[in-house]
Amino acid sequence: MNIFQKNSDIFNLLAEGVSEGIIVVNRDQVIVTSNSSAEEMFGYEKGELLGKPLDTLIPQRYHKHHDQHVDHFISKSEKRQMGHGRDLHGIRKNKEEFPVEAGLNPFELDGSVFVMALIIDITERKKREQELSHWARIFNESLNEIYTFDATSFIFKDVNKAAQHNLGYSLDELQKMTPLDIKPHLNQSEFVKIIEPLLNDNTGKIKFETTHLRKDGSTYPVEVHLQLSNTGQNQSFVAMILDITERKNYTENLERTVQKRTLQLTEALEKEKELNELKTRFLSLVSHEFKTPLSSILTSITLLGKYKLTEQQEKRDKHVTTIRKKVKYLDTILNDFLSVERLESGKVNYNIEEFPLSKLVNEVVYDANMLLKAGQKIHYPENIDDVFIKFDEKTLELVLSNLIHNAIKYSPEDSTIDVLVKDNLSTIDLQVIDKGIGIPKEDQKYIFDRYFRAENALLTQGTGIGLNIAKQHLENLGATLNFTSTQDKGSIFTVGIPKEHKT
Ligand code: ADP
Repeated sequence: MNIFQKNSDIFNLLAEGVSEGIIVVNRDQVIVTSNSSAEEMFGYEKGELLGKPLDTLIPQRYHKHHDQHVDHFISKSEKRQMGHGRDLHGIRKNKEEFPVEAGLNPFELDGSVFVMALIIDITERKKREQELSHWARIFNESLNEIYTFDATSFIFKDVNKAAQHNLGYSLDELQKMTPLDIKPHLNQSEFVKIIEPLLNDNTGKIKFETTHLRKDGSTYPVEVHLQLSNTGQNQSFVAMILDITERKNYTENLERTVQKRTLQLTEALEKEKELNELKTRFLSLVSHEFKTPLSSILTSITLLGKYKLTEQQEKRDKHVTTIRKKVKYLDTILNDFLSVERLESGKVNYNIEEFPLSKLVNEVVYDANMLLKAGQKIHYPENIDDVFIKFDEKTLELVLSNLIHNAIKYSPEDSTIDVLVKDNLSTIDLQVIDKGIGIPKEDQKYIFDRYFRAENALLTQGTGIGLNIAKQHLENLGATLNFTSTQDKGSIFTVGIPKEHKT
């Protein structure tokens, strides 16, 4: 029976009250007593450790080292904490190792030296430490920027590597700053307003977008996720930052594309509306403009049927001419409308070919003769046989007949219309000159607008389309259409056709 057993009451009294494991060994490192915390910790029955060497409780790999250590320690006879700077382990009866912290206290009793070891099982603490360092690593290695800052002073407490790197500040520098120093677009009161909801309800999280300012003065758009953390002594905020430069670019591009498409759609819609309007106008014009010629054709035909005698041929001729004129007129209007439709929908095909000007002038003038009022005459050049033009023949025919028809329409009986051809340096000019009603000065600037008709022309039939399409076609082909006019004196319309045709 050793001395401890003898005094077991005292020892037990002292030892059983503490949660640390207590083991006492003699100079030979044999266990002479232990408390129940130690027995439980190492998985032994009460009293089972007595007489066992201390090594029983120490993993094999530490044995040698440990022996020396304890020897040295006993000879020096000083109280000390074991395992500074390295991990100590114990081994349970079931061979399971576990981390411990141990303090050794040598003492003398009845002339013998003993060592009392105070042992704490630090399995749980180690686990927590590991967990912490695990999270610390994640915090530091996160590619998103993570900050913590004090809830009252706003001073940064910790800032992870990604944030330090992106901002260009060191941790030291940042720990003297607040989030406001890197948020150029927010002032103190605005910032407080944003984070206020978190202080009232600290379970929540808020998200907002702003801009961050780097040390080098550059900025980048960010999305901030903010929450309150109560883990430290002081309340602090934890902020996760997403750099949303890419997202912003994407969104901005998207917005630009949407804007562009909307514009295109609006334009298409506008065009569609114009075409629709045109069709509506066409229908109303057709019903209006076609009615008069059609009814006069009808009258002429009715009358024609009444002239049955041979000697009434002259009267028949007169009506046939009227019918021809009216049909011709209807044909012109129809052509104009078709031309507008084709110009509008972009379906015009031009056919550039060389042709003699005389042929075209003759044809147009021949057709126009039918429309002449009583006593009207068209003078046109006879000596243009050698003038050749490289142009779209159909277009020029349309333009010239439009101009000559206008000249006839807008000038009185017995007047003369002149068609001139001028061979210039770079153009061949065609002029149609009349001595008619002319165009009022204030109306002249609108004369090429579609559907526009001058004040003094309203009593004459017309659609306001002819000049508009003539000019468009000519300009499409690099040619020009201009005029000079004096009210009640007459007008001169000039078509300029380039000699070098550019396609
Ligand atoms: P429309 O003759 O069918 O009205 P145009 O487009 O050919 O349409 O002409 C537009 C307008 O220009 C006419 O309504 C008229 O007011 C004016 N105009 C055109 N040619 C002449 C002309 N030779 N003399 C006087 N006015 C003219």
